[in-house]
Amino acid sequence: MAALGALHPVTGRCACGQVTYACAIESEVALCACDLCRRSSGSGFQAWVNADRARLSVSGETASWASSTHAVRHFCARCGSPLFLFEADEPAVVEICAGSIDAPDAITTSRHAFAQKRPAWAVDRTA
Ligand SMILES: [Zn+2]
Ligand SMILES: [Zn+2]
Repeated sequence: MAALGALHPVTGRCACGQVTYACAIESEVALCACDLCRRSSGSGFQAWVNADRARLSVSGETASWASSTHAVRHFCARCGSPLFLFEADEPAVVEICAGSIDAPDAITTSRHAFAQKRPAWAVDRTA
C-alpha cells in the first residue's frame, strides 16, 4: 500500500450543501475514465484525490453503494453528488471527488487512469 504524500487541509461539500466535510488531501488528482467512474460521474471521467481517512469528518447524510467487491462509493443522500470512495485494501485512504473541494487550488497536478477508456468528447484538445 502506498503511503500518502504531503497533505493539505481542505473543506468541501456536495452541490446542494446538505453534506459538508473536512479532510487532508494530496496535491495530485487521478482522472479516472473507467466505466464505473464515467457512469457514476455522468461525465467523461471522475477526478479523485487521495486523502487521510482518519482525518475525514463528515456532516450531513450520505448514502452509499458497493461498486465492486472491494470499494464503496458515497454520495449526498439528497442531491446525489458523488463524494467519497473507500477501498477495503486501502484502510488509511479515502478518495475524494475533487470537484467537491471548496478550494480547488489545493490540487496542483493530475494524472490519468484508464485513459484509453475516455470518450473522444472528453479528451482535452487544447493540451
Ligand atoms: Zn447534496
Ligand atoms: Zn474509476
